Amino acid sequence: MAVKTGFDLKLFRNIGIAAHIDAGKTTTTERILYYTGRIHKIGEVHEGAATMDWMDQERERGITITAAVTTANWKHSKTEVEHRINIIDTPGHVDFTIEVERSMRVLDGAVAVFDASQGVEPQSETVWRQADKYRVPRIAFANKMDKTGADLWLVVNTMKERLGAKPVVMQLPIGREDTFKGIIDVLRQKAVIFKDDVGKEQEVIEVPEEYKAQAEEYFEKLVEAAADYDEGIMMKFLEGEKPSEEEIIRAIRKGTIAIEIFPVFLGSALKNKGVQLLLDGVVDYLPSPLDIPPIKGKTESGEEVERPADPNGPLAALAFKIMADPYVGRLTFIRVYSGTLKSGSYVQNTTKGKKERVARLLQMHANHREEVEELRAGELGAVVGLKDTITGDSLVGDGDEPITLESIEIPEPVIDL
Ligand code: GDP
Repeated sequence: MAVKTGFDLKLFRNIGIAAHIDAGKTTTTERILYYTGRIHKIGEVHEGAATMDWMDQERERGITITAAVTTANWKHSKTEVEHRINIIDTPGHVDFTIEVERSMRVLDGAVAVFDASQGVEPQSETVWRQADKYRVPRIAFANKMDKTGADLWLVVNTMKERLGAKPVVMQLPIGREDTFKGIIDVLRQKAVIFKDDVGKEQEVIEVPEEYKAQAEEYFEKLVEAAADYDEGIMMKFLEGEKPSEEEIIRAIRKGTIAIEIFPVFLGSALKNKGVQLLLDGVVDYLPSPLDIPPIKGKTESGEEVERPADPNGPLAALAFKIMADPYVGRLTFIRVYSGTLKSGSYVQNTTKGKKERVARLLQMHANHREEVEELRAGELGAVVGLKDTITGDSLVGDGDEPITLESIEIPEPVIDL
């Protein structure tokens, strides 16, 4: 039975995990799918051998993530509000630059994963520049904090020096390398201790005495960064008053969405440490489809139009990946920007000037697929039944004005020396 997706659009996060090869994108993505409850054999996840059978199969076939988009749900640890997180695959290898750019085009925010023992590397710079080009708000994840030589400050400093970015430290590490065992939550002024290597248990305690001064110092810096985006915080800051947690989140979120600041989280994906808090960070700081500027398109006469994320508006969708599926044949992955795409409906492919039928709509989860009746503005999924549509094509409703959406630019090849 096809089901309706029932989330409020402001609870959606369409994100990519952006990283250069080896920084830990696959491991981080696997953990996200694990925590978002879509991988159920949780007991099978142990330290090094942390992948499930189906992922091993994917690995053997040389693919890291099953679908162009994987849909997951995440309940924020603090607010307990359930959010929908669509993870859009962004290939990390430089040979896939064009593919990376295509995926950048359809996501609203990204988690930039860095290897904390290396800091920002030349290839991470490439991915970062691509995200800049498409104006993708980002949070950073300093991964591999358990590794020899891991250093949060290496990531923070190279973000400043190599990327010219303004990092905002949201967490401080407790312990390092093989003694890495928790984080200080700078915003909440609490310590979170990871109790095991499967990430099931976390204990929240008071900030240990030896970390108090550093925790306070970084809280000040956080408030200072937030004050740039909220006058009320600025006033409180000047008067020595403490702004509330919600006020700070709102302000930091604003700066992140403006792509001026980059909240930094840390952990070890391999050891299941810190990924749940990173997911809270995705919800707190990355935009929903309602927070991003409306997509632009052109009418047949060349007039520029905008299509805001309104499920009741005219349909505007973009195909961004075609995949062959052994069960259903050709899958066309799309993002719906405006309107609502319904299963069984007809659409116009305005790039090709052809009418196409949407036979079925699917959403891919880590280990199953779900048939849905419709995809609303802001949502992503796969269409079965489109014959002529290829990557980059625009789709509008059968009776709608035939506009074409901003095309995906094919960039110059990027050569890393
Ligand atoms: P990708 O190429 O970015 O997808 O990176 P992978 O997720 O495949 O990870 C690359 C290598 O780093 C693998 O050998 C992982 O086991 C290892 N790795 C990933 N995350 C961590 C981590 O948190 N700590 C340590 N020590 N190794 C990690």
